[in-house]
Amino acid sequence: MLSVENLSVSYGNVRAVSDLSLRVAPGSVVGLVGANGAGKTSTLNALTGFVGHGATVIFEGQNVSGRSTADLVRLGLVQVAQGRQLFPEMTVLENLEMGGFLWRAAEMRQQVERMYEKFPVLQERRNQAAGTLSGGEQQMLAVARGLMARPKLLLIDEPCLGLAPKMVDRLGELIRQINEDGISILLVEQNTAFVFRLASHAYVLENGQCVLEGTPDELRSNDRVRSAYLGI
Ligand code: ATP
Repeated sequence: MLSVENLSVSYGNVRAVSDLSLRVAPGSVVGLVGANGAGKTSTLNALTGFVGHGATVIFEGQNVSGRSTADLVRLGLVQVAQGRQLFPEMTVLENLEMGGFLWRAAEMRQQVERMYEKFPVLQERRNQAAGTLSGGEQQMLAVARGLMARPKLLLIDEPCLGLAPKMVDRLGELIRQINEDGISILLVEQNTAFVFRLASHAYVLENGQCVLEGTPDELRSNDRVRSAYLGI
């Protein structure tokens, strides 16, 4: 579904990501884990056209390198950004509509209804300013806004950030359901245990480089992963 070889990202003379290669198989959940500053967000921003990278990105058999973010959304590659990046003064409904910028009125309504079915709390709060939602509700809205574009591959950046454990569990369940609906997921998280519960394969990033990859079982049995990422 997605394949990237030798992706590098630099900001001036700061190298954030070096020669990273990764793949997401159709229908899978793939994790990208690493500490603060490891280069996870830079990787996602490179894949969705927010920062330059110079690598070849193949999405569904097409070379999409250099395509604009809007074009990538049209093709089905959509990012849910770190920190939710909602429009806080706008209502829940208006935020959803921003995610559905591709659709005409009838499709927009249908897609909003689908989101309300999936996230009843967003229907209840549809006229409330997004900035006044709880952290968990805001994360739901950010994911729902991403789903409005009907992605084939959803890139989700640090969804657990700042959420209470119960909310993290709900979010995990939600991500599982989204994947069962046929959407592939690339999940970026510092919460390694969360990623290992959901992903079939994960990459471990340190200082912009992939130092390990494998199934969660393989990675769990690695001493370095156990001490540095799982706190065991
Ligand atoms: P976190 O979990 O803290 O969000 P991360 O793994 O997502 O971290 P990045 O945000 O990709 O890491 O940052 C990787 C490196 O690139 C860091 O050293 C960071 O300071 C640097 N960096 C990121 N964005 C910029 C920028 N716009 N300008 C300069 N340096 C940047």
